[in-house]
Amino acid sequence: MSHPLDHGLSLRAVTRRFGGVTAADEVSINVGAGEVVCLLGPSGCGKTTTLRIAAGLERPDAGEVYIDGRLVAGRGLFVPPEDRGVGLMFQDFALFPHLDVTGNVTFGLTRMSGRERAARAAEVLDLVGLSHLAKAWPHTLSGGEQQRVALARALAPRPGVILMDEPFSGLDRRLRDQVRDQTIAILKAADAATLFVTHEPEEALRVADRIVLMRAGQVVQAGTPLEIYEDPVDRDAAYFFSDLNEFEVRVTGGMAMTPAGPVPAGEMADGARVRVCVRPEAVLIDTDESGDGIAAEVTAARFMGHETLTELALPGNAVRVQALVPGRAPVDIGGRARVRIDPEGAFVFASAQGSD
Ligand code: ATP
Repeated sequence: MSHPLDHGLSLRAVTRRFGGVTAADEVSINVGAGEVVCLLGPSGCGKTTTLRIAAGLERPDAGEVYIDGRLVAGRGLFVPPEDRGVGLMFQDFALFPHLDVTGNVTFGLTRMSGRERAARAAEVLDLVGLSHLAKAWPHTLSGGEQQRVALARALAPRPGVILMDEPFSGLDRRLRDQVRDQTIAILKAADAATLFVTHEPEEALRVADRIVLMRAGQVVQAGTPLEIYEDPVDRDAAYFFSDLNEFEVRVTGGMAMTPAGPVPAGEMADGARVRVCVRPEAVLIDTDESGDGIAAEVTAARFMGHETLTELALPGNAVRVQALVPGRAPVDIGGRARVRIDPEGAFVFASAQGSD
C-alpha cells in the first residue's frame, strides 16, 4: 500500500464492526491537501462510520489512520479527536447558543492568547464573509449564516483536515448550492484536505475532486466524478447516478446488439450473454425518419424544465426505452423517430443471468 500522505488524511484498511454488521470493511482512502473527496453511497453503507473513524469519534477494530503523516489510530494507538488537528462540520453540530459568533469561532482555540484568538476569529470571519456579524447571537442568524459560522469555527484552529457529514442538508436548495460552493472555495483557499460525506450523487459530482463510492461497508469504486460517471464498475454503480435502460443480449461481431441499436462490447467475447445499461441521455433521438437508427414511436413525454424524459416504443412494440433530451421533446407523442445509443453513456457488464 502507498505511503501515508505528508499533508492530508490517509485511512488504511480501517474496519469497524457493530455486532454482526461490518460498518466499515477495510476502507482505504487518501485525501491530499487542497483536495475534496466525497464519500458517497446509499444509507447505511458506512460513510458516517468511516468519517467518525477519521475524526477519532470511533475506534477502528483494525487498520490505521494518519493525519499529515502522523499515526493517530491503529497499532494500539488512539489519539482523541481534540488532538488530531481535524476540523469537524456535521449537520447536527449546532452552534453554541450561549456564545456570540466570535465566541463560537474561538471556542476551540484554547492554546492561543486572548489577542491571538481575537485576531484569528477576525481572520476566519473575514474568510467566510461574516465580519459584520462578529457580535451576533446564533439565533439571529439565517441558516446559511449559521453554516458559515460553523465553517469558520472548523477552520479557526488551522486544521490540515476537514471532515464534513452532510453539512448542508438542513438548507433549502438554492441557499444550499450557494453556501456549498462558497464553502468549497474557502476550503480550497485554506488548502485543507476535505473528506465530505453525502448520499446525494448530484452533490458529490458537484463538489468532489474525487468520489469514493461505498456499498455495504466497502469501497466499490474511487475516481474523479467523470471517471465514476462514465466508467462505472458495475450495474449498481451506474444506477446510483441515473435511471438505466437495461437489456440482456448477446455479443455478435464485437457488438452487444440491443433493440435500441448496437453498443461496442469491449472485452466481452462473441456469443457471450451480457447486460447492457444505457443512461437515458445516451439514447439519441433523430427526427429524420430516413436516418439509420432504429425506427421508434414516441409514446410518452414528461417535460421537466431544462429537459424532457421521452419514452419510445421500439419495433414489435414490446420494448420501451427512456431518452432524456435537452429542452422539449423533439417529436410529439405518437410521432415517429429513429434512435441510436451513444456508447459514452452505455455500459456492458457480464449478464446477471449467468454466462449462458
Ligand atoms: P446514512 O447515510 O444513513 O447516515 P451511512 O452510510 O453513514 O448511513 P453508517 O451510519 O456508517 O452508514 O452505518 C453503517 C452501518 O453500521 C449501518 O448498518 C448502521 O446501522 C451500523 N451502525 C452505525 N453505527 C452504529 C452503532 N453505534 N451501533 C450499532 N450499529 C451501528
